Amino acid sequence: MSKIQVPKMHNKRSKSEFNDKEKPAQIRGSNIVAAKAIADVVRTSLGPRGMDKMIQDSKGEVTITNDGATILKQMKVLHPAAKMLVELSQAQDCEAGDGTTTVVILAGAMLEAAQRMLNKGFHPASISDSLGHFATKAVEILETISIPVDLSDKTSLLKSANTSLSSKVVHEHSGMLAPMAVDAVLKIVDPNKDTNVDLKDIRIIKKLGETVEDSQLVDGIVFTQKTQGFGGPNKVEKTKVGLIQFCISPPKTDMDNQVLIRDYTAMDRVLREERQYILNITKKIKAAGCNVLLIQKSILRDAVSDLALHLLAKQKIMVVKDIEREDIEFVCKTLGCRPIASLDHFVAESLGSADLAEEIQAGNSKFVKITGVQNPGRTVSILLRGSNKQVLEEADRSLHDALCVIRCLVKKRFLIPGGGAPEAELSVKLTQHAQTLGGMDAYTFRAFAQALEVIPSILAENAGLSSISTVTELRNRHANGETHAGINVRKGTISNIIEENVLQPLLVSTSAVTLAAECVRSILKIDDIVNVIR
Ligand code: ADP
Ligand code: MG
Repeated sequence: MSKIQVPKMHNKRSKSEFNDKEKPAQIRGSNIVAAKAIADVVRTSLGPRGMDKMIQDSKGEVTITNDGATILKQMKVLHPAAKMLVELSQAQDCEAGDGTTTVVILAGAMLEAAQRMLNKGFHPASISDSLGHFATKAVEILETISIPVDLSDKTSLLKSANTSLSSKVVHEHSGMLAPMAVDAVLKIVDPNKDTNVDLKDIRIIKKLGETVEDSQLVDGIVFTQKTQGFGGPNKVEKTKVGLIQFCISPPKTDMDNQVLIRDYTAMDRVLREERQYILNITKKIKAAGCNVLLIQKSILRDAVSDLALHLLAKQKIMVVKDIEREDIEFVCKTLGCRPIASLDHFVAESLGSADLAEEIQAGNSKFVKITGVQNPGRTVSILLRGSNKQVLEEADRSLHDALCVIRCLVKKRFLIPGGGAPEAELSVKLTQHAQTLGGMDAYTFRAFAQALEVIPSILAENAGLSSISTVTELRNRHANGETHAGINVRKGTISNIIEENVLQPLLVSTSAVTLAAECVRSILKIDDIVNVIR
């Protein structure tokens, strides 16, 4: 019997077309390479000695930042797996607010470890499962080394805000920004009840001019607008503040129309009527006792006409216009007033009271400040100053991080040491734990535990220290039970990092480990990229 010989070439092709075992591995490999590239971008930004990035967008606008989430958000990332790391950093920003660089670097290192295991022939699904167990155990260990903190312990809060600010471009102002962040949060929370902070209640107002050092916490509210109307007051004591949502200008008809006026008397009548209409409104405002009038921005017609401004100024009413719609809630909460949608509702009960409203000259612009509010809601405003736009923007982002750190401490009242101490401790403890495990976990735990050392290693590298000898010493000290040994970046040694006042919220580290592990697990489970045409 003769057998039909299938040509070798043909055989090979059909195999690769219909049973391509290589493809999932290739896709996984390329995903890991792309995601690791993202981690490498932010690598040099980690820690107090980390570098800053200058980002230029297509319009030529320049951002200078050290914040991982901001760097990645501005980058144009095309690869879908790389995008997952960008989103990972956003997720950390939402959850904890700080540690956005750390989380991406951790994910990068975990991916590298996973890749090595894949090369050894481990199945991706089982690596992923193991990583899940690993993250749970890591959180447990972090909890054991955490130190409880009370919200009345202001020094500890200050220390953690300082740690977060120490790695920022504006770190030399941390002496001023850190207490500001702590005071702002403490002002709006009830330490006994609250388990979260709504950062919307802290309004950061940026105003170009002077230096960051001139920023201030305002117990009241600040408007970046100047007052309106020529000859009106720019300082009012014992204020009654009204916030209107209607317009003080001649009404417009719904349809486009024309009115022809043929003689002067008719013209005169129209003008007089308009004046009467506006006068009626302003009189009613005055009658309610209002002396500071806030006017919501209007897009349909002028929120306030020149004539109205003139009449209001004559009655000694201070006017601030262009209050944004989304700010209405905050303004009302702060000043204890009610938004007034029609003239009929303009009554004394709707007004809020404060001691002082004044217009302040700042450089070549002005802003309005209302202080001494009588029935204040739990809100606070921060007036941030900066000599140029980049510094001002970065100060805003850094302050946001510091506020988030304090918010973390309200959510979960525990601190842990920084400076690579938690990662080193995790690495040592998890390696020890791996010896008690059997099967695959024993191997993966050891590999991922080693991956965690990336944080102290990069911290040392960025500080100009030898990463290998620093990490080795750190590992030894932790193995000998020095839980608080961390990298003292300033002195270039390893010491008890708590004595150096480098403390950070537990939540930042736990969320970084969990989110990074979750992201790596989902990347591992992808075995194909499908492009759809739509
Ligand atoms: P992230 O965006 O992840 O918060 P950072 O650039 O803020 O990145 O760096 C945070 C890391 O730097 C943390 O691991 C923290 O423990 C460490 N760190 C911050 N301040 C110090 C310090 N003074 N000494 C040593 N390590 C520090
Ligand atoms: Mg930080």
